[in-house]
Amino acid sequence: MSFENLNLIKPLHKALEEKGYEHPTEIQKQAIPVILERNDILGCAQTGTGKTAAFALPILQILHSERHENRSKKVLNSLILTPTRELALQIKENFTVYGKYTGLKSAVIFGGVSQNKQTEILKKGVDILIATPGRLLDLINQKFISLKDIKLFVLDEADRMLDMGFIVDIKKIISMLPEKRQTLFFSATMPPEIIKLSKNILLNPVKIEVTPNSPAVETIKQGVYFVTKPQKKSLLIHLLKDNSIDSALVFTRTKRGADQVTKILNNAKIAAEAIHGNKSQNARQKALSNFKSKRTRVLVATDIASRGIDVTKLSHVINYEMPEESGTYIHRIGRTGRAGLSGVALSFCDNEEKHLLKSINKLINIPIPVIKDHPFNQTDNSEVSKSSSDKLHKFKRNTGKDFLLDDARKKKKRNHRNNSRKKKSIRNRNKQLHLIE
Ligand code: AMP
Repeated sequence: MSFENLNLIKPLHKALEEKGYEHPTEIQKQAIPVILERNDILGCAQTGTGKTAAFALPILQILHSERHENRSKKVLNSLILTPTRELALQIKENFTVYGKYTGLKSAVIFGGVSQNKQTEILKKGVDILIATPGRLLDLINQKFISLKDIKLFVLDEADRMLDMGFIVDIKKIISMLPEKRQTLFFSATMPPEIIKLSKNILLNPVKIEVTPNSPAVETIKQGVYFVTKPQKKSLLIHLLKDNSIDSALVFTRTKRGADQVTKILNNAKIAAEAIHGNKSQNARQKALSNFKSKRTRVLVATDIASRGIDVTKLSHVINYEMPEESGTYIHRIGRTGRAGLSGVALSFCDNEEKHLLKSINKLINIPIPVIKDHPFNQTDNSEVSKSSSDKLHKFKRNTGKDFLLDDARKKKKRNHRNNSRKKKSIRNRNKQLHLIE
């Protein structure tokens, strides 16, 4: 299928051609016609599937057609709510590229930076606003934004929004939207809370699900290394010495961890930068743009980056630490293998993280293959040691129990002996007393 079949307007075709997109991705094939028919959508789509264009193209088309007919001035008609600043920026970039010939204006707002530039842009009028929840509410309260004319509302990465504790903010924002609107709801996973939320805000939605069985992107080659915690550094350096790793996004669980790994890599003469929540927005953007332009080969990130980052042709994702949530694994590895390109996702798993690996394997249906051929291989003897320690524990418990029984029996015997001795001595004493009397 080509984009021609999707009945998109000329300004969009022109932009897509320039961008080099030839065929719509699966989610685009499914979602674009449904959105153009003005239906609500409940979309379950993994990262890297081309989800942004799946909603951005029809939104631009609908607003362009209406604007063209009415020739009215810029009114905020579409709101895209997204969890992270990086993702917000990326969606904005996509709207700018796809909407280049539509005359529609989009803007992005997010926290962590001064609001002045953002409010200046808003004052001039925008058609489409991409926002993170906190800054949006802030600017609504200051009367810079009104949601009364919203016709198209997108809730992106809904599961992530909930994970990040945005539920109260989201409900507040939704309560400010006009009842009559079209809502596009996207989530990578569909746990019960998400289904409940979707039921409250969607009207007869069309359900769209891309690769529902195995959420991990199929084009990504996955592998796991069993390695001790202290040897992870050496394994990472060992792998990155291989020049076939063109670019690598390395995930750590903590901000401190990200800084430490970056330092270790730089000391080993491997160009790396860190991106995490303690860095200023400018530093985050700079690190990201250096990585995207391939000036730095390695970007070390906490999960803040696992959703937002879209690096063209990112070859490797390395989970230096296993994620706590198995769903996060999908989002992390989804940074590579985007839009049908191949990619590699490698994970370092120490003994304490084996339970996390177990739940990831369960989620993706197929166990991640174990890579044993490396100098730091920690033989996977955890099961062996577990069963032998179990046995030892059982043995100790049993013998302990025996001891206890023995002890109790001995104590009883001892008491019995003492009691009889006591009775005997009392009897003797009484006898003697009797004799004296
Ligand atoms: P997304 O899932 O929206 O973050 O998109 C993932 C990547 O796929 C981005 O780099 C997009 O630019 C790219 N992309 C989206 N749609 C297409 C398409 N139809 N053909 C080629 N690349 C695409």
